[in-house]
Amino acid sequence: MKSILLLFSCLLLFSCNQTKKKLTMNTKIVIAHRGASGYLPEHTLEAKAMAHAMNVDFIEQDLVLSKDDIPMVIHDIYLDDVTNVALIFPERKRKDNRFYVIDFTFDELKTLQVSERFHPETGEQVYKNRFPKGKGNFTLHSLQEEIELIQGLNTSTKKNIGIYPEIKDPKFHQKEGKKLTEIVLKVLTNYGYTTKQDACTLQCFDAIELERIRKELKSELFLVQLIGYPEETQQLKHFATYADGIGPWYKQILDKKVDGKFTFTSLVSDAHNLGLKVHPYTFRADSLDEFATFEEMMQTVFIEANVDGAFTDFPDVVLKFLNKK
Ligand code: CA
Repeated sequence: MKSILLLFSCLLLFSCNQTKKKLTMNTKIVIAHRGASGYLPEHTLEAKAMAHAMNVDFIEQDLVLSKDDIPMVIHDIYLDDVTNVALIFPERKRKDNRFYVIDFTFDELKTLQVSERFHPETGEQVYKNRFPKGKGNFTLHSLQEEIELIQGLNTSTKKNIGIYPEIKDPKFHQKEGKKLTEIVLKVLTNYGYTTKQDACTLQCFDAIELERIRKELKSELFLVQLIGYPEETQQLKHFATYADGIGPWYKQILDKKVDGKFTFTSLVSDAHNLGLKVHPYTFRADSLDEFATFEEMMQTVFIEANVDGAFTDFPDVVLKFLNKK
C-alpha cells in the first residue's frame, strides 16, 4: 500500500513537473517596442514606465552613442524625426541635411525636447492617432538612466522585468571611430547583466557584429539576431552557432493566403529545429496591413505561427489577448 502511494505521489509530482515545464516552455514573451510607444513618444522614460506598469516581460532600448561616448536610447542615428534639434541647433546639420546623435554631447542632447515621431521634411506625425506631436515635456536619456528606472521599478513593484537592448548600426559607429558595442557591454555588466539568466536580451541586425559579441567579446548574454532580408532566412544554421534566437520581420513568417487563412513559411519551424527562439517585430494596432483586425494579427502570428514572443507598440492589448488564451 505504502509503495503504491509512493508511486502515485511520484507520478503526481512528475506530471506536475511536466505540466510546469510545458507551461514555461509555452510562455510567450511580450517585448515593449521602444516602450509603450503606442501611447507615449517612443523611447521616453515615461513610455518605459508605462510599459513596466503593464507587466511586459521585456522593455526595449535602441542604442546610439553621443559625441562623448554615452549610449543614448534612441531609434536612429538621427535626431531630427523625434526631437526639436532643427530649431535649437540649426547650424549643426550635416551635408545630407540630417542631424546626428553622434555630433552632440550628452549635455547638449539633454536640452532637446522629444516629440512623437514625425517626417522631418513635412513635419507630419507618422502615426496620426498617437500622442500629439510637439505636446508634453519629454527628453532624451542614456542607457544608464533607463536601467536605473527599470531596476528601481523592479525593486519597488517586486517584479523582474527585463531589458532588451539593441546595438544600432555598428558599421556607422566604427566609421566614426566609436566602440558602441564595447561601451554597451560594459554598462550592462556594471548593472549585473552578464549571463542568460539576467533578464537581458541583446539584439543586433548586423550578423558580423553579433557573432563578434559572442565569439570575440565572449558575451554570455542571450543574443537575438535580427533579420529583415529574405536571403538571411537561409543563414539560420550559421546564426545558431552564436545566437539564441532570431528577430524576423513578421512578414517573413507569413506565406500565401489560402481560403482566407494565412499559411506560413518554414522560418519558425526551421529556427525551432535549431534551438532558436523567434521574436518577430512589430505588432502595431494602428498599422495592420494585410490583417483586418489586430486580434487577427495576434492570432495568426502569435498563436498559429507559434512564435515565442514579439515586439509590440501596444503591450497591454497583446498581454490581454495572451492572458485570454
Ligand atoms: Ca529596435
